[in-house]
Amino acid sequence: MSIAYNLDKVFQRIERSSQLNKSIEHPVTLLAVSKTHKINKIQEAYDAGQKDFGENYLQEAVDKINTLSKLDIHWHYIGPIQSNKTAKIAQYFDWVHSVDRLKIAKRISSQRPENLSPINMCLQVNISNEENKSGVSPDELNELMVQVQSLDNIRLRGLMCIPAKTDDVDEQRSAFKKMYDLFQQQKTQFPDIDTLSMGMSADLEAAIMEGSTMVRIGTDIFGARNTVVNSNDNNEGVANGTS
Ligand SMILES: *Cc1c(COP(=O)(O)O)cnc(C)c1O
Repeated sequence: MSIAYNLDKVFQRIERSSQLNKSIEHPVTLLAVSKTHKINKIQEAYDAGQKDFGENYLQEAVDKINTLSKLDIHWHYIGPIQSNKTAKIAQYFDWVHSVDRLKIAKRISSQRPENLSPINMCLQVNISNEENKSGVSPDELNELMVQVQSLDNIRLRGLMCIPAKTDDVDEQRSAFKKMYDLFQQQKTQFPDIDTLSMGMSADLEAAIMEGSTMVRIGTDIFGARNTVVNSNDNNEGVANGTS
């Protein structure tokens, strides 16, 4: 199947689930997750009209961004972040979804080049309270929001999550509903936030029915990933269970 065909199918799923969510306020943005996939596949999706792309592995992403610098793409960093990655994230990306502590946000803010507009940032929440998983706990979210909001060079856009894996749609929805409630709570204090980044290939419908504004879809656009990644990237996505 062509990538244009797959994109079309995903848009149909987004459309159908959006109609089931009566309270939906924003059109849902599709983020095409191109990690591990070759440049020509990104080009193919771009030619079909796709503008937002998500990457997890920093060196691989930087190579792609440099190669495709002529295209009008918005690049989103969605992988785990250690301190040694913040400079390149600040330099190369339009968005970062996976910030879960102040130290990382501060580094990205101070390393953002002066000629670029503030980076769009979502804070990752550990919504299923999984041990050893990325994300700020719901209890500590507000404090982090307050601190990040005060940083220069960052435009705080909202929240992101990767809930515990389950095939049970009710369980999927209950995690996403918790996120939606947290998002609404924060919105009373931070009226400018507009992004709830949740939903992947296997749970797109549940996420949109609970109020997602941005779904991150890899497999259902580009096909299955093989797990071999650039050795410069330490396989961290694999260790994190997100690849
Ligand atoms: C890989 C990844 C996705 C896409 O997952 P699929 O199941 O392939 O759609 C979305 N979000 C994050 C954070 C990822 O790491």
